[in-house]
Amino acid sequence: MGIIKQLPEDIAIKIAAGEVVERPASVVKELIENALDAGATKIEINLKDGGKSSIEIKDNGSGMDRDDAMAAFLRHGTSKITQVEDLGYITTLGFRGEALAAIGASAEVELITALTHANEGSIVLTHFGQTQAAKPYAPLPGTTIRVKNLFSSLPARQKFLKNEVTEWKNCLEIMTKQMIAHPEVGFIVKHNDRIVFDVPLDQEISSRVAQTWKIEQTKLIDVNSETPHMQLTGVVLTPQAAHEIKSHQFFVVNGHPVSDRMVARSIKDAFGTLLPPTIYPSYALQLRIHPGIVDVNIHPRKDEVRFVNPQEMYRFIFASLSQALEGGEKTFANLPPSLAPKMAHFSPTEPKEMNFPTPRLSFNATYTKRNATFDAIPIKTLLEVQSMRNETTTPVEEPIVTLANCYLVTIREEKLLLIDQHAAHERILYNKLWEQDHEKQVIRQPLLIPIELDFNESEQALFDEHKADFEQAGFHFANSSIGIAIQEVPQLVSSKEMTSFFRSLLSGLEDRDEPDLKDFKHKLFATMACKAAIKAGDSISETEKRQLIDNLLTMPDRFTCPHGRPSHIMISTSELEKLFKRTGF
Ligand code: ADP
Ligand code: MG
Repeated sequence: MGIIKQLPEDIAIKIAAGEVVERPASVVKELIENALDAGATKIEINLKDGGKSSIEIKDNGSGMDRDDAMAAFLRHGTSKITQVEDLGYITTLGFRGEALAAIGASAEVELITALTHANEGSIVLTHFGQTQAAKPYAPLPGTTIRVKNLFSSLPARQKFLKNEVTEWKNCLEIMTKQMIAHPEVGFIVKHNDRIVFDVPLDQEISSRVAQTWKIEQTKLIDVNSETPHMQLTGVVLTPQAAHEIKSHQFFVVNGHPVSDRMVARSIKDAFGTLLPPTIYPSYALQLRIHPGIVDVNIHPRKDEVRFVNPQEMYRFIFASLSQALEGGEKTFANLPPSLAPKMAHFSPTEPKEMNFPTPRLSFNATYTKRNATFDAIPIKTLLEVQSMRNETTTPVEEPIVTLANCYLVTIREEKLLLIDQHAAHERILYNKLWEQDHEKQVIRQPLLIPIELDFNESEQALFDEHKADFEQAGFHFANSSIGIAIQEVPQLVSSKEMTSFFRSLLSGLEDRDEPDLKDFKHKLFATMACKAAIKAGDSISETEKRQLIDNLLTMPDRFTCPHGRPSHIMISTSELEKLFKRTGF
């Protein structure tokens, strides 16, 4: 006699329930998805105690008739697929028919629903898996589900629930994701009867994001691109406003918020040198793609996604974001139009048409404007007032002072401008190197005495692999008694410490996974720019300071050095007003 028995349904369902419903946030997720699948345009969510004592979700979707209101709680009860072929073409958020069965097995649940023009609605009560027959109820269109005392009769599960604040934070994360994924739907969110969000339906993605992240809309850059098979829309936070937390990263594939490493990498790569390593890009992006070439339903709970052609996706996302970041006037919102450069198409990993105009800036227009608004500007720094006095006779250039042998301080366009002279110079040289590379016009400089390079085996191998690239970048080598000797260097690079220069460059290349010429060039140019740039502590003339600032302010990607550190900081008078607590803060 064998010992294996099939588990009774009521036990099986409780085990399965644990996989779908882990905590209040998972209930919230499933119920919002059901409301969205039912075509709701308004969803009201009311939570108590972080969702532990009560979760109520009310929608204005299609509703259900009485039979369906009962069948909804059956295990594998779903209206969303009927045959196995449907699995390859899923357009709804749910389809497993497990959520309501699992929620019904784990809590006290009340379901009130009615079809749109029905004369009568229904109410179904289910209590830890015991479902009562549906009863007539008022015909309130749509569906309301109340889930009370989650896990209260399942101590083994209840003990894993955290305190109210933690559970609430988990729910908040889910709701924020859904609000951002569905700007076409209005949401009202209440916690312990306090309104936390009230966002209208049919919002632009940028206003939805600004409202849910509680930031100014001007800090967002629109992303909008499409191919015949896919469309990417949404917003990214300007690199200057980006921060050290990762929580503002939303990628939605056909309505499913997903987290995917390849997607995250393509976005990070598109930001390239615009962000230092410890700062994360913030984004809310919607990908619409033919359901046949993506699988968003790999795992019942996890937000995973599988693309038929991941490389193509990588390239599409990378290119869409690069384009948005390059072209986005908002990236350069810090600068008034008179200073705005002709935006060259530039990205560190994908150089395109390069064009680096360096117009002299005309200050006359600014000065006139300043005079006109003089009375209206409440705060003026001493320097600024001084310069306005001067300018009534002859326009003078703002003085530039150096602080701590490293920071240049001046005023441009009524803003306090602080520049890190090394980072700024690095950015200028780095961009120039790409420009020369693109135009294939590297200016070389022969060395009077060739410099011998002394490499170990692995360095030598890497060097040999990239010798042609080095030569294209402006170096020229000859064989020497100990190995290699440099005979010519690019003019932008100083000839000091060449061995250490090559060594640090080659060591950076050692553990990369895929050889990529653009990535190599980025490293090469960033290292060259770093070595050749003026350092903190170097003293430079007044003319050089002015050139450095003028040059930097016309550069693409000027806000950071090639390693992503800020090159300059601009503080407007309104920001000063806030700092001095003169206005709302
Ligand atoms: P799934 O969403 O995977 O189909 P669920 O258990 O979440 O499974 O829901 C079961 C069925 O109940 C759904 O297929 C749908 O027909 C119906 N349903 C659930 N919630 C709603 C709702 N808010 N409005 C209308 N129908 C709903
Ligand atoms: Mg569902």
